Amino acid sequence: MGYVQTVLETVKKRNPNEPEFLQAVEEVLSTLAPVIKKRPQYEKAHILERIVEPERVIMFRVPWMDDKGQFQVNRGFRVEFNSAIGPYKGGLRFRDNVTLGMLKFLGFEQTFKNSLTTLPMGGGKGGSDFDPKGKSDAEVMRFCQSFMTELYRHIGPDTDVPAGDQGVGGREIGFLFGQYKRITNTFTGVLTGKGLAWGGSLIRPEATGYGCVYFAEKMLEKRGENFEGKVCAVSGSGNVAQYLTQKLIQLGAKPVTLSDSNGFIYVKDGIDADLLAYIMELKNVQRGRIKEVAKKYKSVKYFEGKRPWGVAVNCAFPCATQNELNGEEAAELVKNGCTLVGEGANMPSTPEAIEIFLKNKLMYSPGKASNAGGVATSGLEMSQNSQRYSWTAEEVDAKLKGIMISIHDACWEAAAEFGHKGNYVMGANIAGFNKVATAMLEQGLV
Ligand code: NDP
Repeated sequence: MGYVQTVLETVKKRNPNEPEFLQAVEEVLSTLAPVIKKRPQYEKAHILERIVEPERVIMFRVPWMDDKGQFQVNRGFRVEFNSAIGPYKGGLRFRDNVTLGMLKFLGFEQTFKNSLTTLPMGGGKGGSDFDPKGKSDAEVMRFCQSFMTELYRHIGPDTDVPAGDQGVGGREIGFLFGQYKRITNTFTGVLTGKGLAWGGSLIRPEATGYGCVYFAEKMLEKRGENFEGKVCAVSGSGNVAQYLTQKLIQLGAKPVTLSDSNGFIYVKDGIDADLLAYIMELKNVQRGRIKEVAKKYKSVKYFEGKRPWGVAVNCAFPCATQNELNGEEAAELVKNGCTLVGEGANMPSTPEAIEIFLKNKLMYSPGKASNAGGVATSGLEMSQNSQRYSWTAEEVDAKLKGIMISIHDACWEAAAEFGHKGNYVMGANIAGFNKVATAMLEQGLV
């Protein structure tokens, strides 16, 4: 058995109840054999054994009181995965299905993603099995305050800087920041995704979705194409999906679907700016469901319990959650003429789906590369906080676009160097890994 395989077997034995984590580790490690062969010093220093083990995992009780005066208890986590190239950085996820294994997968991915951004950020992730859906603002606030009452002692602007993820948007970041400030008596950039009035960055809400489209635009450019007239399927209807759709519309593409965990909507003539504005109000302010769009507009069809991958499109953008696009759906997309898949979510395609995309030579970008615009702009928010200065929306957007292009090019070049031209999976893993591995080597046995 080779070195990579041996490490994989050990990871499987050690983490038997963490399927998403094992999937993420296998996906990365299975592409690294050529790098390990070229740089034997990595094996000698046991870099792989170390990189798959989080530096620290914090797990804690989060007691809070609901509106009826009942005691509630949830579980809180922070996985501080890797600090070789900077303070831990990565989002918080609040959703009822959150487990330690899920956050380990996300923290592991985050380590390579952050490395790709070119900014000095390590990898981390956290969250809770608390789901804000169906809770009142007061309940969400009490939960966030209790969560931060433990988390505050583990984080800091030079130690660990959390951000949002599923279930954690501007409202939750506000409550978390308020409590951190109150406990520590400091006003610092300890969280990103903050409100504009208190240290947030322009374009941070837009960044993940916009960045994913900038990356896809660059993939299209490599084949002499652009977005004009391209029919696109988008899944999800949260932060990433909304702004990704907005950028697609701006570039002349025709997004025809959006979804949530209950079903998807299909708009034959394309979602336009007015319809999107309504959807954003529905999701972000009224906190409604995607099926309500079809109730209001006759041109919108709703498919209960279905995902949007059976629709004939040129491009697909999974922006909801992990493993939301399987092998059968990938084959269906290819059969219907899809040539580009840009992942806005983390690990949305199953290994079988990825295999089909690669076999059919689709332009396929893995989330760790194409959704890195969010954390990159969080990095820009940290820089602005350190300087106590803020940049204009145009400045941030230009920097975001520059970063996405450099991530694209780094993936392209790494894949080409190892004989897999156009394979962004290989490229992203190798380029992301190399920087972290080099830093770990140079810092000794830590
Ligand atoms: P939001 O909570 O804003 O939105 C998530 C969306 O995905 C909702 O529409 C939700 O529907 C849907 N969804 C969740 N689970 C499922 C499921 N099992 N099946 C179908 N739909 C589902 O989260 P974000 O937009 O922030 O995050 C989406 C993805 O992007 C995640 O994978 C996240 O890790 C990733 N990401 C986010 C970044 C960011 O900056 N926000 C940065 C990089 C990656 P419902 O309302 O029914 O729950």
